[in-house]
Amino acid sequence: MIAENMKQMVANSSAIRAMFEEGNRLAGIYGKENVYDFSLGNPNVPAPEAVKAAAFSVLEEEEPTVLHGYTTNSGYPEVRERIACHLNAQFGTAFTKENIIMTVGAAGGLNVILKSLLNPGEEVLTFAPYFAEYRAYVNNYGGILTEVSPDTETFQPKLEEFEAKLSPRTKAVLINTPNNPTGVVYSESVIKRLAEILERKQKEFSTTIYLISDEPYRELVYGGTQVPYLTKYYANTIVGYSYSKSLSLPGERIGYLVIPDEVKDSRELIMAAAVATRILGFVNAPTLQQKIVARCVEERTDISYYERNRNTLYDGLTKLGFSCVKPEGAFYLFVKSPVPDEKVFCETAKQYRILMVPGSAFGCGGYVRLAYCVSYETICNALPQFEKLAKEYLT
Ligand code: PLP
Repeated sequence: MIAENMKQMVANSSAIRAMFEEGNRLAGIYGKENVYDFSLGNPNVPAPEAVKAAAFSVLEEEEPTVLHGYTTNSGYPEVRERIACHLNAQFGTAFTKENIIMTVGAAGGLNVILKSLLNPGEEVLTFAPYFAEYRAYVNNYGGILTEVSPDTETFQPKLEEFEAKLSPRTKAVLINTPNNPTGVVYSESVIKRLAEILERKQKEFSTTIYLISDEPYRELVYGGTQVPYLTKYYANTIVGYSYSKSLSLPGERIGYLVIPDEVKDSRELIMAAAVATRILGFVNAPTLQQKIVARCVEERTDISYYERNRNTLYDGLTKLGFSCVKPEGAFYLFVKSPVPDEKVFCETAKQYRILMVPGSAFGCGGYVRLAYCVSYETICNALPQFEKLAKEYLT
């Protein structure tokens, strides 16, 4: 009875979620502490104390009918103004509240912007490996997701292939840095070259190609790594941001889109995004969360926690003979599978109660993703299990 395209979606249903469910099943049998579940990017660092304090004070101070009422579809003006000022102070931009649209997390923001931009049959280009849900989000609006193959040496974008794949049908390019699943931060030189290519191709095709930068991991970087702010490199850039990871609030569903004035037809696009927020059924981003994040724009998660996890897991696995690029951001390791079919490797790992997600879920077979937003103990206890797993493959 269900729609044909939903049948397909259900059949391809998220490999990540499937692993998460498997984790719960194994935990029921062996106990949670004996399952090494690296499947889901659910932050385990608690939200900063300031978030709780902000929640209490918002509830105390704000008039309930306003606080819990509908807002304009774009969100509370004063919240958007606060975010615009914060971005301007950080990046030297000149945004106003008009450029900010509050969204239901990054996922909500991406759906809003794709709904606003895509005509059926138009293309969105992305670089493999990429967040598994991108294909569904693009398909939601009749768009076609075209992927550029991965450079498995560095996991930086392959720009020659990118240039060759741009066409007059390309409406948008969707990138994610720091990247899920590799943890790689796209370098400034790559961003500059990407921008040059886009400028050139826009002229050649006489079209507008929007660059959508999906940035839920912007602040999750190690060792002072800089993440270029893309609106400064390419005028037709739209940024999608989320507090899911930066403040550990994934269940609260709060983020925003930035649509700068420099973007082609920005006024129309801003209006379209507000309408899309409404008609996709979000109506507006959660009001309590809007007020809370506006009071917490300077807050950061405890990055040192993830950094220790990264170092211990990376050092432990590479010593055992596994290979992977050392991530500069986010909280994922993308490890080369010792056998070509990484699903076989994931199945074997389950025997040691280690759960990982096959790279094919991210458009990059032959690799597995480990989300290290877990307790430090989980990592320490998992390493002897990885040693046993390594013995099956690497000796
Ligand atoms: N984009 C990327 C790259 C992600 O990794 C995620 C979540 O893991 C999302 C978007 C969705 O995030 P949100 O919870 O803000 O909707």
